[in-house]
Amino acid sequence: MIILQKYDVAIIGGGLAGLALSIQCAKAGYRSIVFEKEKYPFHKVCGEYISFEAWDFLERLGVPLAEMNLPVIRKLLLSAPNGKILEQKLPLGGFGISRYKLDNLLADIARKNGVELLENIKVESVQFENEIFNIRYAMNTVQAQIAACSFGKRSNLDIKWKRNFTLQKNNRLNNYIGVKYHLQADFPDGQIALHNFKNGYCGISQVEDGKYCLCYMTTAKNLRENGNSILQMEKNIIQKNPHLKKIFSSSGFLTEPVTISQISFDKKSQVENHILFVGDSAGMITPLCGNGMSMALHASKLAFDQIYFFLENKISRKKMENSYQRQWRFHFRKRLSTGRTLQRFFGNTALSNLLIASLKPFPGLVSRLIRATHGQSF
Ligand SMILES: Cc1cc2nc3c(=O)[nH]c(=O)nc-3n(C[C@H](O)[C@H](O)[C@H](O)COP(=O)(O)OP(=O)(O)OC[C@H]3O[C@@H](n4cnc5c(N)ncnc54)[C@H](O)[C@@H]3O)c2cc1C
Repeated sequence: MIILQKYDVAIIGGGLAGLALSIQCAKAGYRSIVFEKEKYPFHKVCGEYISFEAWDFLERLGVPLAEMNLPVIRKLLLSAPNGKILEQKLPLGGFGISRYKLDNLLADIARKNGVELLENIKVESVQFENEIFNIRYAMNTVQAQIAACSFGKRSNLDIKWKRNFTLQKNNRLNNYIGVKYHLQADFPDGQIALHNFKNGYCGISQVEDGKYCLCYMTTAKNLRENGNSILQMEKNIIQKNPHLKKIFSSSGFLTEPVTISQISFDKKSQVENHILFVGDSAGMITPLCGNGMSMALHASKLAFDQIYFFLENKISRKKMENSYQRQWRFHFRKRLSTGRTLQRFFGNTALSNLLIASLKPFPGLVSRLIRATHGQSF
């Protein structure tokens, strides 16, 4: 075994949470390394609508959002499987940017700030011994005082460590699949549409350069019942919603589908074996809330605040772990639970038809529901 280098902070997973954490650590002068199993830039399954609560934080990290002429999104259009619609002004709103672009920008900023960013590297084990983490990949080991796992919804290490959510039987909060495309289309400006269909929903909103992101989530069962064919499922189930039928038949598809499976909204822990979990690896909000990216970024800030105190010898490891967990729960636990409740309504054809019809006369209530899944600027 070759021990290569010693770091202050090792981060496994270079998505939003991991890259944002690495930039904060590097700016504070800590030797930081990020392991990412893919190579930037790459596409990711995500609706690519970011709530405005993350705007200031991204700019502070160094993303020049104000100069990028990104689409601003202030309106929500919800459609039920039967085609009935509800339109609503978003209390806070958001903006559109593809993950292809945003993750790549953050990766560049991380490198410029001195983060060692290893691409095409899948971490195979993380072990804590004598106050040091040993992180192993491809026959190599690096050591770090802090290990943070920001490896997203479900990784090889979740399975290896038998994290609780990987052992759950299939239920109404796990075993979803996600599919994303980029489209050339012509939709109203400044709007995110969320179209429901049997056992799923599909979001459409604008990203950079006039393109649109179409991203849907549904049960693995829907796919199985359609011979595991995405095309067949889109034809037989998704396009039963008349709005989606129109979109699928009139848009130019710019990318092949990007897919993920085994998405779970079951509860997760934020600290295990002294490792801090950040982003989706600590708990995932249902995508219909449109807020997972802001939460992943916000969690990186909460983690950094505690890492900083620990590395400056101001608090013990135990205090760092407890404070991070407490802060995480304070900011996110209620939002996740509201998201889970909403998910139950939106998965079911009859309930989402009923929900949209009954909410239509009460815009104030819709606004309150949206606020319950969102936070403040951080
Ligand atoms: C269908 C769908 C639609 C969504 N739409 C939206 C939306 O519109 N707005 C919104 O705010 N949120 C949305 N989300 C949620 C959002 O995508 C996530 O909350 C966000 O990506 C979490 O960021 P992260 O950094 O935790 O994880 P990720 O961005 O998933 O990053 C994790 C990284 O870790 C890497 N990795 C994994 N294992 C290893 C390993 N062993 N070694 C090295 N690298 C590893 C992966 O390659 C990946 O790059 C959506 C989610 C889904 C499923």
